[in-house]
Amino acid sequence: MNLKRYIRDIPDFPSKGIVFKDITPLLKDPLAMKQATDALMDLIGNQKIDIVVGIESRGFFFAALLAARLNAGFVPVRKPGKLPAEKISVTYDLEYGTDTLEIHKDAIQKGDKVLIHDDVLATGGTAKATCELVERLGGEIVQCNFLMALDFLKGEEKLKGYEIRSLMQY
Ligand code: AMP
Repeated sequence: MNLKRYIRDIPDFPSKGIVFKDITPLLKDPLAMKQATDALMDLIGNQKIDIVVGIESRGFFFAALLAARLNAGFVPVRKPGKLPAEKISVTYDLEYGTDTLEIHKDAIQKGDKVLIHDDVLATGGTAKATCELVERLGGEIVQCNFLMALDFLKGEEKLKGYEIRSLMQY
């Protein structure tokens, strides 16, 4: 099954010049969803995972599915103001301006083996910031995986030193 058939390109969304990779056709197709989940599981192999961290918001879908399959916990990393309990935050640079991500302080215990998941690896800034949050709480990052990587934006270079895997390359 060619999963790329279930990724829809939306030009100029959310702003001019960006080609948005829309995963909703994939989410809607039960067989494609199962195939994508199986393939993400293959990327992990038999590495031990305690916690799967999903990045808001499109990272949540598969992160939760993977957590269930791995018998691991699911932890959300969210945009500011969404998490109710005590949390830590990281602010990172975007092309124009900055962005902030947050995680609950008690979401990860020291030494937890962590898998980070998001839908798209673009410049890598979001994933790198997430790695920082996890490591500040004492988590050990086993792998960062993605449905797809936009290779021309060189996100992998920003994540040097981490195991990076993605199902589809563009
Ligand atoms: P970055 O920090 O540049 O790697 O951007 C990654 C984050 O932005 C992920 O959470 C993606 O969901 C989102 N993102 C970046 N570029 C795209 C794109 N072309 N299509 C869909 N989502 C994107």
